[in-house]
Parts: sequence; structure tokens; C-alpha cells
Amino acid sequence: MNLRGLPSVEQLLQTQMASELIASYGRPLTLQAIRSTLDEVRRLVSKSSEATLPDREILLTQAASLLHLWTAPTLLPVINASGVILHTNLGRAPLSTAAIQSMDAVSRGYSNLEFNLETGKRGSRLIHAETLLQRLTGAEAAVVVNNNAAAVLLVLSALANKKRVIVSRSQLVEIGGGFRIPDVMRQSGAKLVEVGATNRVHLSDYEEALSEPTALVMHAHHSNFKMIGFTKEPERKEIADLAHKFGVIFADDLGSGTLLATERYGLAHEPTVQESLAAGADLVCFSGDKLLGGPQAGILIGKADLLARIKKHPLARAVRADKLCLAALTATLLHYIKAEAEREIPIWRMISASPKQVKARAEYWAAELGQGEILASESTVGGGSLPGESLPTWVLSLTVKSSDKFLEKLRQEQPPVIARTENDRILLDPRTVLPEQDGVLLVNLANVLQSQKRKRNP
Ligand SMILES: *Cc1c(COP(=O)(O)O)cnc(C)c1O
Repeated sequence: MNLRGLPSVEQLLQTQMASELIASYGRPLTLQAIRSTLDEVRRLVSKSSEATLPDREILLTQAASLLHLWTAPTLLPVINASGVILHTNLGRAPLSTAAIQSMDAVSRGYSNLEFNLETGKRGSRLIHAETLLQRLTGAEAAVVVNNNAAAVLLVLSALANKKRVIVSRSQLVEIGGGFRIPDVMRQSGAKLVEVGATNRVHLSDYEEALSEPTALVMHAHHSNFKMIGFTKEPERKEIADLAHKFGVIFADDLGSGTLLATERYGLAHEPTVQESLAAGADLVCFSGDKLLGGPQAGILIGKADLLARIKKHPLARAVRADKLCLAALTATLLHYIKAEAEREIPIWRMISASPKQVKARAEYWAAELGQGEILASESTVGGGSLPGESLPTWVLSLTVKSSDKFLEKLRQEQPPVIARTENDRILLDPRTVLPEQDGVLLVNLANVLQSQKRKRNP
């Protein structure tokens, strides 16, 4: 096949369509797309003798689709109808309006992130969240880092490098995504001393290990794992008192770390940050984007002298929180200070929604769609908190031919809809769908249902 009829890059660039592409995507990228398109045509044509040469319009349309593909964002908002409130794969906690506004205000221009407005001199980025965390928890000091894994790593690196750290075998958990507490502990250079048996740990196990010089006793939340049956672990207070008797630091990795009492919402009791401090923890760390309902962050609070050492460690600089995180976090913390968390923080609105309210929304969805059944089901909290616990909920259930195909179709909608299946039915839980997403969810659902119908009776 003769390729001489194929237009050159220069010829294509002279067209009106190319000017439009350059205006939208810039010259270098448009050039790349045109070259890629021409290369592809040459490759195809060289393979087949019957191929006809595409005209300019077809070539530029092809270049336009490449440009669209190359510049489409890969990180997209989705509608979470799965009923898992803190879904790590779906970005954990949605932020409150105030948190979003605070990020917006701070990121559009400059801010006093590290600038003291009173003195006109350099300030500390740490004070913004620290002041609120002190007020909220009564802790002497606080530092905010990139995430809770970084907080654990930082505590151990700063306070226990090359020294012994005692941890119960029942708490050597993997929390998902391959993150294992013992791996992080070793990474810090601490010498891990495991005590007790997987299911049963006694205070005497700790006491025995404490007879040798030790830097720290570490307590870690079981996260997404639950022990039942013949189990025993000493209370935080007992371990803290014992550690202190030996002059050893007691650090508590709470994982999710809630400030509100989960039992008030019909869930099991999740240890609170306040309780951990009251039990005698010298340091407490927890995530910003689990039950706190804020941005990704690791929050570390506790004794001022320990936090002073931690803040000075080089790793503290490497894992520090950025201004967007601090803006969203401080706005989130303010909701707790003003006792409006349940109303303003999306995950607490979801947790506190009554089955009756959820049912009304599921019924509204069914009425709008003109199909589906309302079934009693369960929502889960997720995010490594409250394993095995669930909230009674109501879901919209759709009977479809192939649930896998249907789920796939839902994921192709804009925005994608994430649902779950049970016994070949599609279940959609209103609890985790933000109220303002109802409209677009119904449009997307109707689209997918319609496309199924078309396939059945073409
Ligand atoms: C979730 C969790 C972490 C990690 O927190 P990230 O903020 O995701 O880094 C650490 N420890 C425990 C017990 C957890 O549950």
C-alpha cells in the first residue's frame, strides 16, 4: 500500500481542527497525538494491502480521542452505595463543608501556615491543630503528620531506635494494604519484644519483659480483626501503670481513634481518645480520616516532653502534614469543639442516620425508578474500626440478569456508582450516599436499567 497519500504532520497542523486542538490541549501534546495517530496508521497500512488511507478529518478525530484519553483525570469522584461508611478503597471519610471551605480559603492564596501574625516572624505550622487538640482532649501537646502509619513510625524512631519495645502478640496485626504493625515497628529500628500468646496475654507477660531495660510499651488496636472465645488482654490502665512503675513510656496506637462514643449509635464501644489518655497513655496516635471524619492525617497527642523529642526528629519533617491537610483537619476538629460533629461531619451523619430515615430514602429511590424492592440489611463502619459490627439499614434491591455485568455498568457511569451484591441481587444502601447525590444516582441507575431492557428487547 502506498503511504504517499498520507498527510504530513505539518499539513494536519494547518487545519482548523488542529488549531482547536492546540487551543484546548497545547501545541506539544497535540503534536504528539498527531504523530501517534500517523504512526498507528502507517503500522496498520503496512500490514494490509487492502487498507484505505484515512482522510484528514478521520486522522484528526483520532488524534482528538487520544488527547481526550491522555488528559482525562484518573482520580474521580464516585457514589458509594456499598453501605461501608469508611471504605479505604473509596477514599475513607468524605469531608464536611467547613473543611472543604477551609482548604479552599487557604489554598487559593497565601496563608500564615508558618508565619506569626503578631510578631511578623516565622511561626510553627504545628500550632494550628495543636491548640485545638489540646482543648479537645486535654493532652499537653500534639503533632500532626501524614498518616497514622507515619505517626507510629515516628514515635518509635524518635523514642525507641535500637531499644526494646514491648508489644503483645495479640496485637501484631496486618491492617490491610499489606501494612503490618510489626513491619513498621522494625522499620523504626526498634527491637521488637513480643509477649504473651496470640489469644491470651497476661500482665505478668509484660512484667517479665519489663525486667530488662526497655524504651516503650506499645499498645495497638486490633483494627479490622476481632478475637473471640478463649481470649484475654490486660486493660490499658493496667499496662500503663505497670510500664510507669518501670519508668517506661506507654504508647497507644488507637487506629481509628474516635472522639465520640460509638455505643450511643447502637455499635460496640470503640475505645475513645479521651479514655486512652485517662488510662495513662503517654502518647496516643490515630488516623485523621477514619472515625474522626477528616482528611488523611496521623494525629499524635500526649506528654509535652515526649512530643518535644518527636518534633525534633528528622523524620518529623519528612512526614509533616501539608497546609491542605491542616486546613481540613482544624475545621473538622472545630466541629467537635462546638459539639456539632454529628450534624456537620458526613460520616457521623451516616452513622447516626436512623433506619427509618434510610428506609424513606430507599423507598424514594424505588418510587422514582419504578422498580426494586426495599430490604432490611446491614451497613458497616469499616476503616479498621469496629470489626464485625454493623448498623441496621434498608437497601434498594434490584433483580438483574447478571449482577457482575450490572455492577460493571454502574462503574462505567459518570460518576461511577459502587454497589454490592447479595444472592445475585444488586443492593444499594442510601446510608453512604450523600443526600445531594440522590439525583445523579437515580439518573445513572435509570441509564443502566434502561440499557439492560434494550438488550432484552432490541
Ligand atoms: C488504620 C490503622 C493504622 C494506619 O493508619 P493510616 O492513617 O491509614 O496510616 C495504624 N494502626 C492501626 C491500628 C490502624 O487501624
